[in-house]
Amino acid sequence: MSSQGAAARSKPHNARVSDKHLRRVRMLLLLGSALVIVIGLGWGVFFAMRAKWVPVGVDVLLVGTGIAAACLTHRGRLKAASVTALGALFFVICGICITMDIPTYTTPRSTHHFLLALGACAYLLFRGESAWLRLGFPIAFFIAFIIFGSSFAGWAESPYLLPADVRVTGTWSNNILSIVTLCLVLHIMQADITARNAMESDLRAAVAQDQFILHFQPQMGEAGEVIGAEALVRWLHPERGMIPPGKFIPVAEESGLILPIGDWVLKKACTQLVAWAQDPATAGLTLAVNVSAHQFRQPDFVAQVMAIVERSGVQPARLKLELTESMLVKDVEDVIGKMSQLQARGVGFSLDDFGTGYSSLSYLKRLPLDQLKIDQSFVRDLLSDPNDMAIARTVVSLGQSLGLSVIAEGVETEGQRNWLSANGCHAFQGYLFSKPLPIAEFEAFTRRRHGDAQAQQPAAAVSAQPA
Ligand code: C2E
Ligand code: CA
Ligand code: CA
Repeated sequence: MSSQGAAARSKPHNARVSDKHLRRVRMLLLLGSALVIVIGLGWGVFFAMRAKWVPVGVDVLLVGTGIAAACLTHRGRLKAASVTALGALFFVICGICITMDIPTYTTPRSTHHFLLALGACAYLLFRGESAWLRLGFPIAFFIAFIIFGSSFAGWAESPYLLPADVRVTGTWSNNILSIVTLCLVLHIMQADITARNAMESDLRAAVAQDQFILHFQPQMGEAGEVIGAEALVRWLHPERGMIPPGKFIPVAEESGLILPIGDWVLKKACTQLVAWAQDPATAGLTLAVNVSAHQFRQPDFVAQVMAIVERSGVQPARLKLELTESMLVKDVEDVIGKMSQLQARGVGFSLDDFGTGYSSLSYLKRLPLDQLKIDQSFVRDLLSDPNDMAIARTVVSLGQSLGLSVIAEGVETEGQRNWLSANGCHAFQGYLFSKPLPIAEFEAFTRRRHGDAQAQQPAAAVSAQPA
């Protein structure tokens, strides 16, 4: 039984790609939409003058698709824009190849050349998306390209066959336009590779020169007390200033640099916990550390963690490792084995971004977890979206039935906090309380809250005394 199947929501992949890449993709989509509109209008007029109304209808559809794709791009819905534009172009180009652009011994077919350029385009636009988009679209385009490029496939008796002179001119313009599109796609790919290589070598230097710092986001209990924190890494770049993890963790993961970075984060977190143990205001805090899939899959992950824990002298129960659902679906037995070994030594586990992946209830039950973390995408529209309400409620009751605590992340308003609290979620993390803070500010925040709580306690004790 899938607990989250219907509710599953993918994390925005945009977070994984650079701003420059997004700008280039946006430009490519806008240019593509404009091209679709111009081509649709041009052929629409051409066929209208010859009173061929079926192709005119197709051209009107093409213009509509171009406008829809441009609007979606403008609104930032790049995936929807890509699916709309590429899907429509695939069918229109195949349709043209079958009914209008049939090769003869004197004039070759040329419309299918767009399929090659658009296949490459699909590969670029769907980078980081699910396999059926990332591979399905390019494969469909390339197969159609091979079929139309290698055969006379088509409807020889079609009433819409283009006149020979039009096809000769069309061959030139189709070939030039498809090569221009291909060059543009290759340029974007090359620019991405260059940017990625530059980031990777900067990141390598950052690891060697220790350019990272940890920020701490408070995790709050029902009474407004700080119960712990999540450690979030930042890169202090000597020229570019502070770079958020969303911008460099993906490159660190692809390049394997996440291993030394993750190791640094874990060591730093344990050192911090040991320091906190000396102060009554911070001694009871737990610290959550994000673990990447690459790190967790290391055969000696358990030994690495335990070595750091033992060397630092931290109480393992204060440390909580955050894993994401997607990390847990492959090689379940290995995952359970590693988690169980660490849990036996006292280390806790929280399931991060819960609800965005696909967890089966039966196997969730087997994972030695301590906590579920409701993903911020469900908290954001909690009060206005009934689906998000239902998901949050489901996660809470799932936690209750599995005996796990539940924390909500991305809590930004009192309304969200109150709803969560009324529905059984009693731990919170989000901007409502605090952004992730540098260590000194985090400790000041915690001491303030600790002081407030202590000031309230005697008052509460006095007011509870019989008159
Ligand atoms: P995450 O683990 O889901 O962390 C929560 C992110 O949400 C943090 O972004 C945090 O600043 C942000 N956030 C917290 N409260 C709110 C809120 O109320 N509203 C909104 N809109 N956002 C909120 P940040 O620090 O940029 O981290 C992004 C991601 O980078 C993290 O997502 C995590 O996946 C990754 N990351 C951060 N530190 C590490 C690390 O040490 N190791 C690994 N492997 N990944 C890390
Ligand atoms: Ca996290
Ligand atoms: Ca999260």
